Amino acid sequence: MASEKPLWPLLADAPSDADLSRCVHCGLCLNACPTYLITGLEVESPRGRIHMAKLVSDGRSELTASIQAHWELCLQCRACEAICPSGVPYGRIQEGARAQLDAAAPVGKNARRIRKFVLRNVVARPRVLATVVAPARWYANTRARGLVRRLLRGRLRVIESQLPHRVGAPFRATTGGTDADRADGVLFTGCVMGELFGNVHRATERVYERAGIRLSAAAGQGCCGALHAHDGDLEFARRLARKNIAALERTTGPIVVNSAGCGAAMKEYGDLLANDEPWARRAQAFGARVKDASELLSPTQGGAFAGTVAYQDACHLVHAQRIKDGPRALLASLEGCEMIETPGADVCCGAAGIYSLVQPAMSAELRKRKSDQFAAAMPAVIVTANPGCHMQYEAAVREAGIQARVMHLMEVLDEAGSDDRVG
Ligand code: SF4
Ligand code: SF4
Repeated sequence: MASEKPLWPLLADAPSDADLSRCVHCGLCLNACPTYLITGLEVESPRGRIHMAKLVSDGRSELTASIQAHWELCLQCRACEAICPSGVPYGRIQEGARAQLDAAAPVGKNARRIRKFVLRNVVARPRVLATVVAPARWYANTRARGLVRRLLRGRLRVIESQLPHRVGAPFRATTGGTDADRADGVLFTGCVMGELFGNVHRATERVYERAGIRLSAAAGQGCCGALHAHDGDLEFARRLARKNIAALERTTGPIVVNSAGCGAAMKEYGDLLANDEPWARRAQAFGARVKDASELLSPTQGGAFAGTVAYQDACHLVHAQRIKDGPRALLASLEGCEMIETPGADVCCGAAGIYSLVQPAMSAELRKRKSDQFAAAMPAVIVTANPGCHMQYEAAVREAGIQARVMHLMEVLDEAGSDDRVG
């Protein structure tokens, strides 16, 4: 029987009853859910997790350590949301659930505090992040890497193998891009993306330049806040969203994002700031300008890229932004590019932001599925559109024991359009 008052102090950010009540328990989402596919357990399914959120919301259950564990195993991949016929906004529900955990998780409080500190004070602070990433960039490009890798075991070995094959110079808002006055749009530089994947930003710039669109890396922009929101730190995510809105609303044209997770979060700034006028209106206008890097390009642009290519959907591109065919059409249009569809290309790889660090066992299970598929299909190139997936695929390729290159879609298009093509 429901008590009159919730046993749990509900926050403004807790999942709303309106959102939770949309679930009609049909179960159509179950087989789309990676954690359900691996465990076969209802409590590790979207329906199960929504049911637990409703119990807490109705005051029929406390927020127990067991509920916390089931929520935290969720990858927030939103495959369930994309398939749900009732339009349950699962991403929003899960962010609300994480906000409840952020306020008062029954267990693991210290680990949460450390995570929150790192996300706020390292990831979201460009200078600190640059200092932390610099040794990783040096190490990734050093010859000693092969030797060190052979000596590592267990999780350290996995983390090492996620580091990209080579890490180029950083591309920061202050250092890259066309002069803002001459630009047709903005390239969103982000946090980790700009530090570890500067090459992808430079490739995106060149691809857009060839398409006749000049991008500036307007100053003042920073981390999008997706990692913070996914971890329940909605207050800080809102702070970062306001900062980006204030910085980029001085610019014109599309805001081009080549990281699927950032793009999804930024398109949804209106949701994040819905109860914060006048930011809510500004956030809606901002979100309407955000485009994934694949959205503004046409397959008629041409180019050649010889090789077998396996495109893997990033969850926040396919499920959150509902972009599935566009990137494939761009690849298929390249002369010599032979596309291979691997089974479950749209099933989460297990990277999921910081998930591979905090849920290593499930992350490893999902990566193994990918590495088995790669070992069977033997693509020459694995193509992604998200930095976390990129790193997970680097590890999956090593696990599969194949020679495939892992590339961002923009890097493939860049090579395809350059005079110095490599297949
Ligand atoms: S979330 Fe959607 S698909 Fe899943 S059980 Fe509820 S209504 Fe059905
Ligand atoms: S977000 Fe992904 S992992 Fe979480 S319940 Fe939905 S489908 Fe499952």
